Parts: sequence; C-alpha cells; structure tokens
Amino acid sequence: MKEFKGSIDRLRVNGERLRQTMETMSKIGRTKGGGVQRLALSDEDKEARDLFIKWLKELNLEILIDQMGNIFGKRKGKRDDFTPVITGSHLDSQPKGGRFDGVLGVMGALEVLRTLEENKIDTERPIIIVDWTNEEGSRFAPAMVGSGVWSGSLDTEWVYNRTDASGKRFEDELKRIGYKGEFPCKSFPIYAYYEYHIEQGPILERENKIIGAPKGIVCLHWYDIYVEGEANQVGPTPMEGRHDALCAAAEMILKVNELPSKVKGDLVATVGEINNYPNSRNIIPDKVHFTVDIRSWDDQLALEAWKILEKEFKAISEKRGCPIRVEETWKVEHSPFDKRLVQRVLDNAQRLGYPSLYMVSGAGHDASYMNQVAPTAMIFVPSINGRSHVEVENTKWEDCEAGVNVLLHCILQSANER
Ligand SMILES: [Zn+2]
Repeated sequence: MKEFKGSIDRLRVNGERLRQTMETMSKIGRTKGGGVQRLALSDEDKEARDLFIKWLKELNLEILIDQMGNIFGKRKGKRDDFTPVITGSHLDSQPKGGRFDGVLGVMGALEVLRTLEENKIDTERPIIIVDWTNEEGSRFAPAMVGSGVWSGSLDTEWVYNRTDASGKRFEDELKRIGYKGEFPCKSFPIYAYYEYHIEQGPILERENKIIGAPKGIVCLHWYDIYVEGEANQVGPTPMEGRHDALCAAAEMILKVNELPSKVKGDLVATVGEINNYPNSRNIIPDKVHFTVDIRSWDDQLALEAWKILEKEFKAISEKRGCPIRVEETWKVEHSPFDKRLVQRVLDNAQRLGYPSLYMVSGAGHDASYMNQVAPTAMIFVPSINGRSHVEVENTKWEDCEAGVNVLLHCILQSANER
C-alpha cells in the first residue's frame, strides 16, 4: 500500500457513506415507530452480525469470533507485532430501541477503516474493530457481558447459564444463531480503546456542543427486590390487617425516587421494572418484584445511599407485614478513563472545529469493562431532545459525521505512536 499523499490532518470520513450504512443496518429489526428491535442473540441480531461480517470481509480484515460471540476485525499494521488500537461498540438494541445506540460506534469505526483503506493509509499499529455481544442486557441480564467476560470481570459459564424470560439459555441461543466462536474470550494486550457513542442524555444539546469527551462512567449498582404479601379476595377482606405486597412496593419505590435528595452529590436512583402477582383486579397482590438502579461518580456514596434505602425498605416491610428479599444483581465501579486519551478527544474536536464538552457518562458502556484492561476513552455526540432507548432516538447526520472524524484522528494518532 502507498502512503496517503496529502496532509493527514486534512483527512475526513465520508458522511454520506456513513449515513447510508447506518440506514441499511437500521432496516434489520425495524419497528413501526421508526426504531429497531435487535435483542441480543435473536434472529435480528444474527442478521445484523452477518451484514457486519460481510462489510468486514470487503475490507479484507482478519475476522475472529470468540466464545462469547464477540466479533473482531483486524486491519494489519506496519508493525504487526505492536499492540493494537481497538474501537467499536454493540449491534444489539433495547426492545423498541433506537437506530443509533451502539450501532453508531460500530458503523463509525467501519467508516474509519473504509476511509483509511480508500486513501491507502497504513498505520504503525494494527487497528481492530469490535462488536461486543449483549451490551444491552435487556433480554439476558446483566448488560455488557461480552466485554465483561473478555476483560475478566465476568465468568463465561455464569453468562452461558443466564436465561431470558422464556427460559432460553444464553449459550444455546448463541449456538443457535451460529456465533459461538472458537477463540477463547480473553483479553489480549491493547494500546488504546476508543468507543464512539451517542450521549443518550440532554447535556450536549443543552450546552450547544457537538462532541462530548466523558472523563469516565458513573458506577452502576443493580438490585432486585422481592416483596411478599397475602393474597385474598378484595371484597370481603377489610382494609385493616391486609398484607398488600403492591402497596408495600409502592411506598418503597417512592423512597427510591426521594433517595437522591437525601444524599449530597450527583446520584440518581430509578425503579424501571415492576412485576405484580397475580395481577388481578380482585385479588390482593401477594408478590411483587421490582428493580433498583443506583448510579453515581462516587462509589462510596452509592453504597451509603443503598444503606439508607435498605433501612427504609425494612421499616416499610415490617409496618405492612410484607417480608422482603433483596438480591444484589450487579455492581460496576465508576471508571475514570485514561486522561491522555480523553484529552486527545478534546484536542481533536478543537482542531476539527467542533465545540466540545468535558463531561461524565451516566450510561454504562462496554468501555467501562475495557477501561479495566486498557487505556480507554469515549466520544459522544448529541441525542436530539436527550432521548435514547426509545424509537424516536435520533442524532443529526452531520453530528454523526463529526464524531467519526474525531474518532478517525484519535485512532490515527494512537495507531501511529511507537
Ligand atoms: Zn449503547
């Protein structure tokens, strides 16, 4: 391959090609409301993976699929013995999710490699593009299991045995769609990891910025709460003496909502899922399951907040005679990204003329597991009206292109460092 003739600083990606690629991908699992539904290890996930691999092959990349179904495409470096630069995100989506979450980071990385290829630009280090399996965690909880196992934070067998709502095992579904690869899912040395993603919040838009450079990701604590009551006919059973599991849960849920105002700092707390049993209008509910999600930049604060909540739950449970059981489902510590790489994102945004913002990521990403094993940074672009994980999720095409230009130059700089 010949070297790129012009000044490499002037190199830009092809925004129109990026838009077409994104639109082609968004046809897979398209929903009536204009979003996509590509749950992990579903037929739609398989179809998206197949198309992705077809595009990787067009670039003559070396393709590798590991035992968790993570897909890697490697572009050789001049010094193939050097540790690689990795970039990517995920192709799976939420139920009735958006067209940009995750997929923009994978298609953006693809556009970077296409740009390098058509301009015949070689880099010192190899560049690897990745699609991580089951980032969303909505079909199989928890989230981010592909990068979680790869980074050594989660156990392969444990993930294989996770089941979806219909009882299907993760491993069986992975095999069924043909993506249980042969390579061990294990980290290898990496020089830098960049993940490009939509912001999924309102801050960039509000501040009128195009590029976000998160200093890291907040901690993420998930709990599952099971409340027990006593079922009975609603008519003949007097109000006093009832053990109504749903009323106990209702009180607890409001405590979750009030929690952030009771602790100082940037904590947020949410109940997003509730299941009520038997869920009949004429039976007093005897079983309720709900989830609690606590996030903060300060891990200790999140733990202290949980202790407050636990006490309040206990008091409500005793008052209403409804025993509770708590499962601590998932804990990821806050991840401060690599300062040098974050600065590189900001510097490139400035050089390319995009207003940027140093910020925090409130959403979890594969980058938080990657950050444990490699120098990591992320690049954000605005979400219109701050909406994400919904069908109306949207980002301006020009902003999508801007983010990929920043990604391109971050990758070029890292991949040419000795
Ligand atoms: Zn995502």
